[in-house]
Amino acid sequence: MLLKKTYFYHKSFFMSKFIVHYSLHFVVPFFFAYFFFREKWKIVYGIFLLSMLIDLDHLLANPIFDKGRCSINFHPLHSYIAAGIYITGLFFKKTRIIAIALLFHLITDFIDCYL
Ligand SMILES: [Zn+2]
Repeated sequence: MLLKKTYFYHKSFFMSKFIVHYSLHFVVPFFFAYFFFREKWKIVYGIFLLSMLIDLDHLLANPIFDKGRCSINFHPLHSYIAAGIYITGLFFKKTRIIAIALLFHLITDFIDCYL
């Protein structure tokens, strides 16, 4: 009885974490793009989706996916050094949106570490 309850608790906990994570990755960028870049929201949203490519650095890790692991400072493109490079990108008009998308990605992954 108790065991079953615990199992469901963990399962729903993991599900809500999953939902929070992916809504941050997909839904928030949509509103951001739509409200701040109304005319070119599709391009901006596309850049946000492409920022997820930095998750390719997970392929370097072993195991590739570990739900208990914090990505920040574990994977090279999720390190503070990488964050510093993304922050530098904020200062140039051409790279600004990409930099915002990448930093938002890191924030999302960072929140995940505390859920
Ligand atoms: Zn990530």
